[in-house]
Amino acid sequence: RFITFEGGEGAGKSTQVRRLGERLAALGLEVVTTREPGGSPGAEIVRHLLLSGAAKPLGPLAEAALFAAARADHLDVTIRPALNRGAWVISDRFADSTRVYQGAVGDVDPKLIATLEAITVGPTRPDLTIILDVPAEQGLGRAVARSGASADRFESEGLSFHRHLREAFLELAEREPERCVLVDGRQDADAVTEAVWQAVRARLPL
Ligand code: C5P
Repeated sequence: RFITFEGGEGAGKSTQVRRLGERLAALGLEVVTTREPGGSPGAEIVRHLLLSGAAKPLGPLAEAALFAAARADHLDVTIRPALNRGAWVISDRFADSTRVYQGAVGDVDPKLIATLEAITVGPTRPDLTIILDVPAEQGLGRAVARSGASADRFESEGLSFHRHLREAFLELAEREPERCVLVDGRQDADAVTEAVWQAVRARLPL
């Protein structure tokens, strides 16, 4: 089973990925938790290239291609081998982040994003995608509090960027309701964990 978590900055994804992983592992299941960009040694190198520093080193298309390259390696090295041996894979971000960050909010034609996705992801689509939704103000506040002076260049964007991100993720949830579940990320972390657990149990019988 393949579960992904998506959402804007400061939505609380990493906490929920960890908690869901612990809960499934407690049932005796093999669980692999991972993240993007990154999730394999090669893709972590690309992550560093993409996120370090305040400057934008590449144009939008080159950047989208690098996110896709990192994802191809992540799939080959980490995700597909785990799924093939029957493990549950939980990823903090996946292809939807590229649709939103590089496509809807970035400057890259969504058709090109879809082509890159077809090449890199192919049939390995998530069985379930949890979209953690928080208002732009809250996401921005959390992202700033978390990263302070070390904010990466995405985290240092302003409120309108966060609004745009949120809208794009909401649209995505509406467009693919059979795969995506929207969870209210404004609740306290325990309530979010419970809502995530209900969604997993409803969609993916254990
Ligand atoms: O999940 P996290 O917020 O740590 O993601 C790291 C950074 O990478 C974020 O600031 C996010 O905006 C950025 N990102 C991106 N495009 C993607 C995936 C992540 O711009 N496809």
